Amino acid sequence: MSGIDALLAVTTFETDEHHPHIVIDPAACRTCPSDRACVTSCPAQRYVWDEAAQQMTFDHVGCLECGNCRLVCDRLFTGAEGYSWDYPVHGAGVDYRQG
Ligand code: SF4
Ligand code: SF4
Repeated sequence: MSGIDALLAVTTFETDEHHPHIVIDPAACRTCPSDRACVTSCPAQRYVWDEAAQQMTFDHVGCLECGNCRLVCDRLFTGAEGYSWDYPVHGAGVDYRQG
C-alpha cells in the first residue's frame, strides 16, 4: 500500500456503503463547467478523471468530509440534477484520531 491509500489507512472510517453522502453523475461530468476542480481540490483523491476514456470515477469511501469539492463544483454546490453533497448519516464517515 502506498500513496494516498497508505495515508488514509491511518484514519478510521465507518463506511456507509449503501448511502453515499456525495453523489455525482459521471456521464454529466464529461461536460464539467468547473474545470474538474474536484480532482485537484480533494485531499483524499476521491475523484479520478481518465482523459483518454473521458470518464470520471468517484468513490465516497475515504472521504475526509472537508467540503472542498462542494465549494469548487457548481453542480454539487447548487444540487444540480444528479449531484448532491451531504455529510454522512450520524455515526458514519471519517473518525479523526487527532483534532
Ligand atoms: S467539478 Fe463537479 S461537474 Fe466537474 S467533474 Fe467534478 S464533480 Fe463533475
Ligand atoms: S468532501 Fe473533501 S475529501 Fe470528501 S470527496 Fe469532497 S473534497 Fe474529497
